[in-house]
Amino acid sequence: MQRTADSTTSLRIAIQKSGRLTDKTIDLLKGIGLRFDDYKRNLLVKCRNFDVELLLIRDDDIPEYVQDGVCDLGFVGANETQEKGANITVLRGLDYGVCRLSLAARKDGDIQSTQDFEGKSIATSYPNLTRNFFEQRDINTEIVTISGAVEIAPRLEVADAICDLVSTGNTLKANGLQELETILESETQLIRTNKELSPGKQQLIEKFLQRMDGHQQAERSRYIMMNAPEEAVPKIKEIIPSLKSPTVMPLADNGMVAIHTVIPIDEFWVVMEKLKAEGASGIVILPIESMIL
Ligand code: AMP
Repeated sequence: MQRTADSTTSLRIAIQKSGRLTDKTIDLLKGIGLRFDDYKRNLLVKCRNFDVELLLIRDDDIPEYVQDGVCDLGFVGANETQEKGANITVLRGLDYGVCRLSLAARKDGDIQSTQDFEGKSIATSYPNLTRNFFEQRDINTEIVTISGAVEIAPRLEVADAICDLVSTGNTLKANGLQELETILESETQLIRTNKELSPGKQQLIEKFLQRMDGHQQAERSRYIMMNAPEEAVPKIKEIIPSLKSPTVMPLADNGMVAIHTVIPIDEFWVVMEKLKAEGASGIVILPIESMIL
């Protein structure tokens, strides 16, 4: 799988070919201005306006492709990287594909806590993480590795319990299982190879990260416009701690100003009532495409 160091100048980025992470990753790449042709029909897709090519593969292959330097970067769940024990660097954690790897057993069965797993069999697609978890606790288990439909294993008597990815917990419930303990919290991550890269490629990674950070910050922020009495401006600045130097413009109405600023959206909803109490009105909230700080 080795690629000679820097055999191309393009950054090669691995993404999941088709699955839960694909659309969100593609949206993120489009959001940072990358343009590419039909990614659904090709395995290797060249970006038209940035020195990047995308390799579309199974997500469980991504950690090793990045570790071996076949790809320079990859978007993949922490669950896969940790299961493979891949030697890579995590550059960014991203807030999609969020899930947990959990132990679960029949609701009415004899496994009600982690200690009850002694001598039991566990079906999972994550044998390494599951084995390590029990070995660290000196609990003897038999790991049954299966690649899909793990939640049905106890009903088929393939295993006594399971260790599987959960996000809402609905699949477990629908199969009469109860979640007992989380062994790993996971999210999508941007990972980088630890193989040495040329200065050119490192610069491309820097540029790529700058765009990603700008995009993520923009996603979490909003451009806020509001009208307020001029004398309320110092109070409003106190209410919004991140509002250091807002744009304040006089309005035609005597004593009224328009305040424009950018703030984290979560912060805004918390303080909105207080702003209104200070006389803020006509509040307009606008999305931001990107922020270059
Ligand atoms: P897929 O192969 O399409 O099921 O996508 C699998 C990846 O999506 C996993 O490796 C996780 O990183 C992420 N994921 C997020 N939530 C879940 C979930 N409830 N079940 C399975 N995978 C999940």
